[in-house]
Amino acid sequence: MDPHEALAEIATLLERERSSRYKSKAFRAAADAIAGLSDEQLRDAAGLRRRKGVGDSSFAVIQEALAGNVPAYLADLRERAGVQRASALRPLLRGDLHSHSEWSDGLTSIDLMVDAARALGHEYLALTDHSPRLRVANGLSPERLRAQLDVVATMSGAGFTLLSGIEVDILDDGGLDQEPALLGDLDIVVASAHSKLRMERGPMTRRLVQAVSNEHVDVLGHVTGRLVEGSRGTRPPSTIDARAVFAACAAHGVAVEINSRPERQDPPDEMIAIALDEGCLFSIDSDAHAPGQLSLLDYGAERAEKAGVPADRIVTTWPLDRLREWTERRR
Ligand SMILES: [Zn+2]
Ligand SMILES: [Zn+2]
Repeated sequence: MDPHEALAEIATLLERERSSRYKSKAFRAAADAIAGLSDEQLRDAAGLRRRKGVGDSSFAVIQEALAGNVPAYLADLRERAGVQRASALRPLLRGDLHSHSEWSDGLTSIDLMVDAARALGHEYLALTDHSPRLRVANGLSPERLRAQLDVVATMSGAGFTLLSGIEVDILDDGGLDQEPALLGDLDIVVASAHSKLRMERGPMTRRLVQAVSNEHVDVLGHVTGRLVEGSRGTRPPSTIDARAVFAACAAHGVAVEINSRPERQDPPDEMIAIALDEGCLFSIDSDAHAPGQLSLLDYGAERAEKAGVPADRIVTTWPLDRLREWTERRR
């Protein structure tokens, strides 16, 4: 087995499991440290140990891979990942409209996110880093977002398109946390609430209705903000009049996100049923903050399938041309 590939796959699987980001970062650093080395250089154990970025665990992985075996560490991770059940919807998904890079609170460069999306067979990925007000997530100022657009524009080709985008914060009054003209320049605008999630039902409903009525919004991200498991603890869903929010989404052609992150599972099943009933479109998104999390789409697809969401109502099953027609509907 190729040692470099073994290290990269370990990092990817650790990210998918949402292990500590230091762990996957360490394996990515080790992969970088041995990139381009010959087998001979790799077999020089003493030299290898001295290399910055190669620690005990990665050293062991490299040795096992060189010996022609699947490293035990990788075999364990593969086994844990293999228990996922495949959904019939998953192969129909052509892309993903919600992802982050190190420009905001993601783990890696845009390059690595694009490589991983291509490796999954995606035709498109929207890069949707956070907006200015989310300082804890290093949200992008208008200037930084403009600079990012120049980078994004160079990343498409050979059957893959990196769509420009943003996960824009929904302000307390339902306004959006970015310059309107700049939002108009983006391919994909995901609007999400990240603060004051405990607002009263009436104001919270009006806030989300106001946001999805904004002409620039394409997707309503993690609708209720709930957390059902994981290292950040749990958080109850926001209290909203789901029928009113989803009726507004349907009226404005805004897709309701089915957020694939296992700790979110947002919106809850009963709300997906209401959104279906209201005639909404859906977008199954990974909300990946690392390359290995792009494959979390498996979970979202499984939930959508169980909820009986027809494939044609899911915008991420659409070819790119149709997706673009939809996002340009109000611009
Ligand atoms: Zn978010
Ligand atoms: Zn996000």
